[in-house]
Amino acid sequence: MRIASDIDFLPILNKYQMYDESPLRGDALYETLKANASSLTLVKAKIHRAIEGKVKTVTVSKMPSGKYLASILTETEGENPRFSVGKIYGIDLGLKHFAVVTDGEKVSKYDNPKHLAKHEKNLKRKQQKLARKQKGSNSRNRYRKVVAKVYERVSNSRLDFLHKLSYKLVSDSQSVIVENLHVKGMVRFSYLAKSISDVGWGTFTNFLAYKLERNGGKLVEIDRWFPSSKLCSNCFYQVSEMPLDVREWTCPHCGTHHDRDGNAAINIRAEGIRMIKAEGSAVSAVGGEVSPKLGRKSKFGHSPVITEAPSSAVRAACRRQGN
Ligand SMILES: [Zn+2]
Repeated sequence: MRIASDIDFLPILNKYQMYDESPLRGDALYETLKANASSLTLVKAKIHRAIEGKVKTVTVSKMPSGKYLASILTETEGENPRFSVGKIYGIDLGLKHFAVVTDGEKVSKYDNPKHLAKHEKNLKRKQQKLARKQKGSNSRNRYRKVVAKVYERVSNSRLDFLHKLSYKLVSDSQSVIVENLHVKGMVRFSYLAKSISDVGWGTFTNFLAYKLERNGGKLVEIDRWFPSSKLCSNCFYQVSEMPLDVREWTCPHCGTHHDRDGNAAINIRAEGIRMIKAEGSAVSAVGGEVSPKLGRKSKFGHSPVITEAPSSAVRAACRRQGN
């Protein structure tokens, strides 16, 4: 594969001109670039898996660390997504645990991996060191690349975790139900915006959405004002207040003792199932034996606010890798 080893010269041939106006593609574009830039050479590319289907576009980007990323969009023919049967998961995305998941029977908690925290700590330390270096100095410029590399490691490590968890949940489910992040991120926890961007809920729901779609399943986002934390999942009594630091509580009406996040996940799941039924799809309470109409489009919107992947190119690359 041919990739320009130095795309810094692109301002000469403006990036956007290249995409929108240049009639040149593929080899012709490469030869033209080569003729105009002495620094253009071939670089080795690590191809993670065989490229399947017809290549539509290749987008090359340079990461702050100096690495190149080629994102390849391909088109394959005639695959009807198989419709999925299986569990229905309700997920409460939180700060204490990354995700608390229930399939209606048991509740599982998933935390950010420990090595991620280690990388993040390292990143923070290096960022602080960078900040102390004199502005405009060579040493600062060199160190910036060091920080960029650590940042990439954090970012890759997080994406890896999000891919694995979303893959796991999608592999045996027909639907995954989450809260609409728009409000969860922007209103309810606006003062925690930094943490929210760190934990990557938006990226996670993106991953869930496309993996489910590929399998014929669907992501359901429940109403923004649904009081998932305040409802008793046993008797539906609603308490008026549920401060963030309350991790466990007992329902004043039926006396059931709740784990905050587990209870919220159960409520989210129940509300999602109600919505799916209202939409007209057949759903059995335990999953299984469900046959949604093949090829039907979900009307449930998906509107992530936080997309952390550095660019759409990376998301496309992740999508292509399909893990
Ligand atoms: Zn109750």
